[in-house]
Amino acid sequence: CRNLGGHGVHIYSEQAIGSEREHLFLEAALHRALERNELSLHFQPQMDVQANSIIGAETLLRWNQSERGMISPECFIPIAEESGLILPIGIWTLRQVCKRLRVWDLQGMRLERIAVNISAKQFREPRFAGMVQSILQEFNVDPDRLELEVTESLLLEDLDIVVGIMTELRKLGVHISLDDFGVGYANLCYISCLPVDSIKIDKSFIRNIASDPASMAIAEGILAIAKRLGLRVIAEGVETQEQLDILTHSGCHLVQGYYFHKPMPDHVFSKVLGHACMT
Ligand code: C2E
Ligand code: CA
Ligand code: CA
Ligand code: CA
Repeated sequence: CRNLGGHGVHIYSEQAIGSEREHLFLEAALHRALERNELSLHFQPQMDVQANSIIGAETLLRWNQSERGMISPECFIPIAEESGLILPIGIWTLRQVCKRLRVWDLQGMRLERIAVNISAKQFREPRFAGMVQSILQEFNVDPDRLELEVTESLLLEDLDIVVGIMTELRKLGVHISLDDFGVGYANLCYISCLPVDSIKIDKSFIRNIASDPASMAIAEGILAIAKRLGLRVIAEGVETQEQLDILTHSGCHLVQGYYFHKPMPDHVFSKVLGHACMT
């Protein structure tokens, strides 16, 4: 958990953040973050390298805390989850995303689909599917354009309940993607019984794909099974041409990563999207 200063400088020590006092400070500050307009969304394009087009974008939360500066989601998302604040923050995020999508539509910049990270706590909230549905209706967004990214930590919960909620969401038309795939508890058999549309190969495998035969083997295994099951696969954390070449050679052409674009604030993403729509 680290604090990202203006230019990647650490404003104060990691030790300080790890302390109980600091944790309490951040939790209290997070309570006020929404009303103080300290939260914002960044967007990172997801590319189809074969078609050379933007097929979607992942939404990533940012917190610019007035006294501490930029705080990484790796640091504040766990605090939001523990404290329950992830629920109002999650609703805010979904509403912002739908609102943005409509604005881009009106500006003639069509983004096919937008992905939003959902933590296990939100997912298990009673009426989660109903809430997603009413937000989509409020902004008149086609459910097919929303993708919810969930992690394998969900699978620690009662599987019947999780499958039930996923089925409910997919009946609405919403897409579900299994994030950070390969690092957690799920074995490959799980994905055959979960009603998901796509899986995201975790960036830890992509990072080593060129140097470590095991990472390569895992990525290839995921791709082979996904193909048989008819699932889309997105590789995340693609940073180099070499990684991209290996992936495309293995049949994976949906990618996301710094090699193409970093997550960008609203106005910068709008420009990239506008440019992509013109070409
Ligand atoms: P994640 O869902 O696995 O998101 C991908 C992370 O990888 C993001 O970190 C993104 O900025 C980063 N990334 C993208 N491309 C590259 C690359 O080429 N190389 C490397 N090294 N990293 C890359 P970020 O933005 O710091 O978010 C961290 C985590 O915080 C996310 O991991 C997600 O679990 C959580 N998170 C972020 N926004 C939200 C949100 O709105 N709701 C929830 N529940 N969790 C969120
Ligand atoms: Ca994600
Ligand atoms: Ca991920
Ligand atoms: Ca992650």
